[in-house]
Amino acid sequence: MITMLHPPKSSFAEYAFPRKKGVFLHVQREFGEDGIVRIHFDRNRSAANIFDEGALCELEEHITWIERNIVDVCGVYFESRKERIFLAGADIKTLHAAPRKQLERIIGTGQVLFERIAELPVPTVAMIHGACLGGGFELALACDWRIASPDKVTKIGLPEVQLGILPAWGGTTRLPKLIGLPNALSMILTGRQLSAKAALKLGVIDEIAAQDCFESHALEAVLRGVGKRKSHALVNHPLAVQFIAARARKGVIEKTHGHYPAPLKALEVAVKSLRTTVDGSLENERNAVLDLAETPESKNLIRAFLLQERAKKKVGARPLAHREAAVIGAGVMGAGIAYWLATRGYRVTLQDINNEAAAAGMGRIHRNLEEAVARRVLTRLEARDAADRIFVTSSQVPLNRVGIVIEAATEKLAIKQAIFRDLATRTGPETLLVTNTSALPIGEIVGDPEIVHPERILGMHFFNPVHRMPLIEVVRGAGADPEAVRSVSDFVREIGKVPVVVADSPGFVVNRILMPCLMEAGGLFDRSIPAQEIDRAMVDFGMPMGPLRLLDEVGLDVALHVATTLSDAFPERFTVPPILGRMLESGLFGRKCGGGFYIYDGKKQTPSIDALACHRGIVRGEDRGIPIAERLTLLMVNEAARCLDEGVVAGPDDIDLAMLLGTGWAPFRGGPVRHARAMGIPGIVKKLEELACTEGPIYEPSPLMRRWENLETILEPRRVIS
Ligand code: NAD
Repeated sequence: MITMLHPPKSSFAEYAFPRKKGVFLHVQREFGEDGIVRIHFDRNRSAANIFDEGALCELEEHITWIERNIVDVCGVYFESRKERIFLAGADIKTLHAAPRKQLERIIGTGQVLFERIAELPVPTVAMIHGACLGGGFELALACDWRIASPDKVTKIGLPEVQLGILPAWGGTTRLPKLIGLPNALSMILTGRQLSAKAALKLGVIDEIAAQDCFESHALEAVLRGVGKRKSHALVNHPLAVQFIAARARKGVIEKTHGHYPAPLKALEVAVKSLRTTVDGSLENERNAVLDLAETPESKNLIRAFLLQERAKKKVGARPLAHREAAVIGAGVMGAGIAYWLATRGYRVTLQDINNEAAAAGMGRIHRNLEEAVARRVLTRLEARDAADRIFVTSSQVPLNRVGIVIEAATEKLAIKQAIFRDLATRTGPETLLVTNTSALPIGEIVGDPEIVHPERILGMHFFNPVHRMPLIEVVRGAGADPEAVRSVSDFVREIGKVPVVVADSPGFVVNRILMPCLMEAGGLFDRSIPAQEIDRAMVDFGMPMGPLRLLDEVGLDVALHVATTLSDAFPERFTVPPILGRMLESGLFGRKCGGGFYIYDGKKQTPSIDALACHRGIVRGEDRGIPIAERLTLLMVNEAARCLDEGVVAGPDDIDLAMLLGTGWAPFRGGPVRHARAMGIPGIVKKLEELACTEGPIYEPSPLMRRWENLETILEPRRVIS
């Protein structure tokens, strides 16, 4: 039976903001003869649906209409008209910039609105196809029923903690009641996104239905009525809750080293929600999110998210002439690149010098595909299709129908020059030519007089492993064609990676900034500081792994090569730590060959006695009270300032983005430049000067650091190179 709804008795009603009534740019309403109100999210001039103030206002007006006409309404459906997105959540840009008062108003408005939806006396159904995240999922949680499509684009989750905040439009309050505290925490505290199948298993959605069958399933849900839900009495019992909360808290601290306040706050609010009224719990959510939004952690995480979003926006360059690619060299990187492109729908010719090398590359690709199927990233059919798109060869096949050629052969100048000389004869005039060199200057490669059209050869520096690392440095040589730079950058975006344009400078930007830290870590190890102490210091700082572990992962031979490039380019500052050479002589190449600084047994690692035997046994010097993590960070910050001064990137944002994505640089600190700003430049210069006195010129403050009083120079873009 349909009853008349009383006016909302929420204490947040005052937050509703004025708007021009009757104009709907983002949220439309249809009222059918069947008594169903269909609310469509279809954001004007955008591929995504998000909740900004405008969308919230429009939805508010529709809900008011429904409340006023409730006697005629039998049910309400919420759906999206976008291809890949149901609702992607709140407008992060506004959240980032909003002063506390405005944020309070936005949070309050959303809470009131979703609570009004939850209180509608007619069945409400969220029909989810595409990303249903954050505020989008919180809207769905306020509905009586959730139906989702099985498509790959359907992803359901609450990613707020990844931005340093918590779900505050009722998500932290409603989810524990819907699916029980442990399952709710597994979503809220991690921000993980679920497929429709996983969401159904957890009870997050009620059913899976093909998108074109949504209507009939929704109608059945309406006919079923509001329904009674499982109580989760056992896991939500106060005694169980105490135990679950203590365990979750321990897990969060172990994982975050106490650097991230958001998951702990979210845990507190979620736990309290089980013994508080809805209004009380919404108030807890609201107070928590307002406090969290002011923390540096949240500001840094949201900025990193926005930097990524900006870098992902296409510039509208000329697309590839053909949707086909060639990769030269089927080693670790070539195979990784070919795998990535094939899984993105590109046909790929993968070429190596002989059949054995080519077959070994294909073997690597098959292993990657198997792993992707096991991890449910790809279906078996998708994996087979991707494998079918790769043509492996050791012959010089014609490449004139190829849009881009990516050279990933052995890191030797003569080899690369020979490849580009040859490519000129085999490719079309519009084919983009790029090299994945990690350290050779593009200028030297294209300096070969026999290479025609050097202006269209760029660097495209992938990171290892290709399928995991989101960053690609697009290296622009001195005479590079700007249109080629734009096309390669858009191609990077097209294949789902993030480009940062860098100058053709030794180590580009990521290796240039990271290497001084790795070299110094090797030096500290040589001075009898245990590997674990060095690594623990950096992990505690917030890095995903310590520098010596990282050297083992990269391979000591590869690291030595990059370190040599940098010390050749900047001999006044850098010396390759002799320990690297000694370890290589002892066969310690890193993880790929059994061990380096550590020996590895599955997931376990123990310090290597052989590495210790390579010590020079230098007695640990006086460290002037500057801890390991601070020293190593100072080196990176100092090198970042040098990169800015030399115009290696367009500005500080690019440095931070590249380091966050290329190395996993402590995300909550926002990247080296952001961190420098938080530490205070005068203090940094003082410490660098102190260290330079005892430790040598590697710590010499960069000229830009010395000009610290003119702080803005390192904070604003200086030379735009893209
Ligand atoms: P690798 O030794 O695993 O593979 C190199 C492959 O190139 C080998 O299969 C070799 O047979 C092949 N090759 C040599 N000469 C060739 C030619 N003339 N034509 C076709 N193939 C040829 O090396 P890798 O680690 O894959 O590195 C490849 C490139 O990527 C290098 O320039 C390296 O600096 C760069 N890179 C490596 C990493 C990394 O972590 N390994 C990261 C970024 C960039």
